[in-house]
Amino acid sequence: MSEKLIPFFDYPSIFKRYESEFVNIFCDVGTRGAYILQKDLAEFEENLARFLGVKHAVGVADGTNALIVGLQSCGIADGDEVIIASHTYVATAAAIKSCGATPILADIGHDNLICPKSVEQKITDKTKAIMPTQLNGRCSNMDRICSLASEYGLDVFEDSAQALGAKFKGKNAGTFGRFGTFSFYPAKVLGCFGDGGAIVTNDHETAAKIRLLRDHGRNENGEVVDWGTNNRLDNLQAAFLNFRLKNYHEDMKHRRDVASIYDLAFRGHPSIYPPCGPSDGDHYDVYQNYEMAAENRNELIQYLDSFNIKSIVQWAGTPLHQFESLGFENENHLELQRTNWFFERCLMLPLNMSVTLDDARVVAKKVLDFYS
Ligand SMILES: *Cc1c(COP(=O)(O)O)cnc(C)c1O
Repeated sequence: MSEKLIPFFDYPSIFKRYESEFVNIFCDVGTRGAYILQKDLAEFEENLARFLGVKHAVGVADGTNALIVGLQSCGIADGDEVIIASHTYVATAAAIKSCGATPILADIGHDNLICPKSVEQKITDKTKAIMPTQLNGRCSNMDRICSLASEYGLDVFEDSAQALGAKFKGKNAGTFGRFGTFSFYPAKVLGCFGDGGAIVTNDHETAAKIRLLRDHGRNENGEVVDWGTNNRLDNLQAAFLNFRLKNYHEDMKHRRDVASIYDLAFRGHPSIYPPCGPSDGDHYDVYQNYEMAAENRNELIQYLDSFNIKSIVQWAGTPLHQFESLGFENENHLELQRTNWFFERCLMLPLNMSVTLDDARVVAKKVLDFYS
């Protein structure tokens, strides 16, 4: 193990990258005593909305609560069904469940994202919305999702926790439907130093409802005009995020450059199924993760590990329908064919701001060595 360690994710590096700037921000916010619902949060919400080209952005506690508040603001409740991708974080489904509604799983397509054909098969008279997960920093084909939704009279919501800055036909992930959500968990493309999240919407009424829901139902005068709870993004985290958002273009470029090295090495290989390219057709991908499928996946992971290269399988290797405790019906096991195929082969290679282009070349070479 004399090789240089290439960790899957290096948490201390987030702080070290801009240490003095972060310390200055902390001193500034602390000196002002500006902790809850202060100007740094308002500025971040404005900057995030401008970055995404959307009318409203509202900071909330985290990406899971962003989903819950978004669903509540649209009246999703008991008896409703919301269709989601089978390859997503448990939070996507749990948010629906916590509103009293039922998450319905659709299979993934060859882009590893929700498959519109499978969505159509899952629509019933209880279906209220389609909520694709814009996974790994790639936006689904929203033309097909949105036209299905309008054909059946459904809402579109987006779990874009992993896709800040990803685009489809020049439009940002999170801005296609009634609301979209983001997570600022430290390892996310735009991370803070703890939990954080946001909801974005172009709908004025939905935005107003979300603002009430996240702060005890209180309006600008402090009067309680609705039921709500505490679901606020810390002002201090917002201040850090504001700074990081300014440099975010640089981050997206680096992620895409690393992905291009992997893509160039793997495309056309008989045993490796790389994800779609950094800019294929209508898509602009930001690579929250570089997730691919590969034959002999478990042996490949061990081989890379023997060279000190750390790769992992998303969701610890288990898609939602395979967690017995969640109670997804048996039939899903058979229907979700592509998901089942993918989870026997998928893994994620190191791709983040501390992975250099040279690191990526080393990783790509070791992957190719494994098969030769
Ligand atoms: C991270 C993530 C969430 C949840 O975000 P938190 O901020 O951790 O609550 C939801 N959905 C997806 C797809 C995610 O990757």
